[in-house]
This record gives sequence, structure tokens and C-alpha cells, in this order.
Amino acid sequence: MADETRTQVADDAEGARPTVHVAGRWLHAASGAVREIIDPADALPFAVVAEGDEKDADLAVAAARRAFDKGPWPRTPVAERAALLRRVAGLLGRDRERIGLLESRDAGKTLEEGRVDVDCVADAFRYFADLVAAEAPGRVVDAGSPTVHSVVVHEPVGVCAMITPWNYPLLQASWKIAPALAAGNTFVVKPSEITPLTTVALVELLLEAGLPEGVANLVTGPGRTVGARLADHPDVDLVSFTGGLASGTEVARAAAATVKKVALELGGKNPNVVFADACATDEGFDTAVDQALNAAFLHSGQVCSAGGRLIVEESLRERFVTELARRAERIRLGRGTEDGVECGPMVSGQQREKTERHVADALAEGAVLRCGGKRPAPTAVRPEAGYFYEPTVLDHCHRAMRVVREEVFGPVLTVETFRTEDEAVALANDTEYGLAGAVWTADAGRARRVAGRLRHGTVWINDFHPYLPQAEWGGFGRSGTGRELGPAGLAEYRETKHVYQNLAPAPVRWFAG
Ligand code: NAD
Repeated sequence: MADETRTQVADDAEGARPTVHVAGRWLHAASGAVREIIDPADALPFAVVAEGDEKDADLAVAAARRAFDKGPWPRTPVAERAALLRRVAGLLGRDRERIGLLESRDAGKTLEEGRVDVDCVADAFRYFADLVAAEAPGRVVDAGSPTVHSVVVHEPVGVCAMITPWNYPLLQASWKIAPALAAGNTFVVKPSEITPLTTVALVELLLEAGLPEGVANLVTGPGRTVGARLADHPDVDLVSFTGGLASGTEVARAAAATVKKVALELGGKNPNVVFADACATDEGFDTAVDQALNAAFLHSGQVCSAGGRLIVEESLRERFVTELARRAERIRLGRGTEDGVECGPMVSGQQREKTERHVADALAEGAVLRCGGKRPAPTAVRPEAGYFYEPTVLDHCHRAMRVVREEVFGPVLTVETFRTEDEAVALANDTEYGLAGAVWTADAGRARRVAGRLRHGTVWINDFHPYLPQAEWGGFGRSGTGRELGPAGLAEYRETKHVYQNLAPAPVRWFAG
């Protein structure tokens, strides 16, 4: 494999790249600490980045604060902000191959997934550019008096802290950065400490596109130091977090002390409900099985909206699960850049061990293993040291099992069954999360009824996984607060101000004296 990623990320004298970006300068961590970035396909380091801490976070927040309070960006005309976002989209297109490869190597996804992520991110930048460019500058309110001019305007929130996970590093950062910039904010982004490389690349593109100094700041480093400091920093106005429920709860708690605005995109335990009528034809059956595979095993199931809970009509179960397991066994695992590989490794040894514990517990609780459930035998493209785990189907599962209640975030599909529509809906809603879910049926009335009753932020009918930049993304329940993408995704990064102008001021005489 051409080792383009190695040259890109390890290009300075000490081998560690200065990946902290503050006030327009690329810096090493203030402490001098570094971190090796591991390729999950062979468990070997392939890059070295700065390991920032609270001190770097403080410097970055101070730079973002100065740029917001005194710099040009919040006051830059909307058309110019939109033009910059479009330039970023163009640069992402130019560097699609390079950044797609970097994402594939860092997060362990296939190269094609990496490329698709870059395309989706470019679409998000274009979408938010178009959205702000088309807006009216304010909403005039009828105050009921000819001598009052009343208008509601939107202004940037201020300094935004953005904390992102390892599964979609570039995408998750961009869903925050694009609307934040469109709205005129400045920011500090902290990518996951294990997959920071494409966020570094994105900040480089923002600068190349002409973003003024201090608007975009980046600190690579751990959540417990950098992330925690950003969440409680008094000069941060908003924290937008994507990650797990436990860390999201800590971020919300830390942010409460200074009453920051908080947006949380957390985990999911996403039902994929299949009615037998969806599989009445061979074509329908093939489609539903194919999409159930994709729902559960794309990116080794390390997707917040992964359809890890198959809820299938009892009469269809044996046929559906048999075919699903047969096809799951044939998924070609390997390094994401190798030809023919359909699924890469898991991101880390820790993540694989968590998955293994889930599977062991499920089997102890009575689940029946239909395929997978182990590490694959090593091959040339799948060395022993990589964090691979076989796509796993666990049949005869039920709600009391931990594997059904908790987010696994690995290539594990659990199977539950139902007999009636009410039972299907009850099972699909029986989760503390509420991020996404799907219903498969040939009955249009049933599709609408079930979609209407599912308590999830995205519901797919006869599909799984697609999202649109113009449609909001986010969760019910413990899947989070707030929304990304769509008009609500822009609104997260804005304050609303009512300006009431009295055109004929006169005393009110409320007080006699
Ligand atoms: P994580 O919660 O471990 O880490 C996410 C980020 O938070 C990382 O940058 C980490 O360094 C930081 N962090 C950790 N503890 C922190 C703390 N106390 N204070 C501040 N920052 C802290 O999550 P992960 O393992 O990186 O990602 C997987 C999780 O992300 C899954 O639960 C998945 O469902 C979720 N996710 C959700 C969405 C969504 O759109 N809802 C999208 C992608 C991923």
C-alpha cells in the first residue's frame, strides 16, 4: 500500500507533528507530550501527534475568545461566510483521496467508506452555506403600533467547544464546524485522542480557504483533560459533544456550572423491525436481509445508528436469520485499503474486548450463536495483531439481556421476535435510547402507523442508514439533546435577539413622581 498517510502526519524533526492549532499557529503540546496513533488493521503506530492537556485547552479558548470578541469573523457578511464554506467543500473534493485514505487508516474503515465520508462532509459544508445565504436578515414582528419597529435577529453564540468521537471523526467534526462557522462563531475542536488525523486535515483546509486567524482552534488530547477543561471553561459559551452516554453525562454536568448551551449526540440501541409481508417476494426478502446486514455490520457495527437489534416477525425468523448468518459469515474482513475488503477492523483492542464481553455475557444468558463470536484466523491482509472480530449473530435474545439493552458498538446483531404490530412497536421503543430505527413492511398504512409510534429521532421505512444534510439528526431519550444538520442544526449555534425600537419615545407615567 502506498504509505501517503505516514508522510502526511509525521513530517517534523522529532517525528511528532505539531497538531495543536491556536491563534493561527501550529504548536506542539505545551507539556511536550506526544501520542502514537495506531493503525487498527495491524496494531502498529503510524503517526505521532501532540498530546495536549488543560493548558493547551486554555490557550485555545483564549484565542477563540479574542477572535470572537475582537476579530472580523462574527461581523463578516453572510455572503462571504457562505463563500468560505463553499471553498472548503471544493478543497475537500480536491483532497478526497488523501483524506479518505487518512480516515480509512485512522478509524479502520474501508477506503470507500472514507471517500463517502469526505463527500458527505463536503455536502454538509455546501448545505450550510446555502442555508445562511438564503436567509432573511431578521423577522419583523407586528408590535401592534405604528411607532414601534420590532425585529427578531439571530447572532452567533460565541466560543464553541466541540468534542468528537472516533467512529466518524471527520463527519462528526464537520456537522459541528460547518454550522458554527456559517453562524459566525469561533471554536475549539477536540477530536477523539485515538483518531485525530482528519480533523487536523480539516483545520488545514479551513485555513487554506481563508478563515481568519483564531477562528478555528484545535487541541489534540484526551477527554479527561482537554475535553473536561473545554466543558467547564468559563469562556466557552456552548459545548457540542458527540460520544458515549457516560462521557456525555459528565460533559453536561461540567457545563452546567457556567450555564453553557449544551448539545449532546450520544449513543443508540437501534431497532430494525421486519414484518413478514416485507419478505413476501424473493426480491423483498433479499433486500431486507441485505439491508439488515448493512444496518448491523457497516464499519464493524461502530456506528451510532447501527441496526444492532433485529426485531423480526416470528413466522419469518428461521428463514431470515439463517440467510442473514450465511451472508454475515461471508463478509470479507481485512485492511480497509485492500481490494475486495468489505469491512475493516474494530478501532481498538479495548473496543474489541468490550464486544467480546458482551457476547460472552449474552451466551451465558441463553443467546444462541448463529455465526461469528470470535476473532478471525489471521491471513495476509488480516494479521493477527489487527483488532478484527467476526460479524456475529445472536439468536433467541430478549430484553433482559445486557447485549440487548446496552450499546455494544461492535459487529453484533441480536435477534428478537414479535407476533403483533403492537408487540413490535413496544419492543422497538423499549430502550433508554432513541436515536434511529427502521420498519420493513409492504403495507403502506402499517409503515406510517409504526413510523409514527417509534420514539426515535430518525425512522427509516424500507431502508436503513441514509441521512440528508437538510434533515435534522439527533436523539430522543438518552440519545441526546439538540439536533445536528437541517435548520435546527444551524439554530444550535445561534442566540436569538429581539430588538424593540420605539420610534416615538414618551414617558410612561407608571410612577407618579
Ligand atoms: P467517548 O464518549 O468515549 O468519547 C467521545 C469524545 O469525548 C472523545 O473525544 C473523548 O476524548 C471525549 N471525552 C471522554 N470523556 C470526556 C469527559 N469526561 N469530558 C469531556 N470529553 C470527554 O465516545 P467514543 O467511544 O469516542 O465514541 C463512541 C460513542 O459515540 C458511541 O456511544 C456512539 O453511539 C456515539 N456516537 C454518537 C453519534 C450521534 O450522532 N448520536 C455519532 C457518532 C458516535
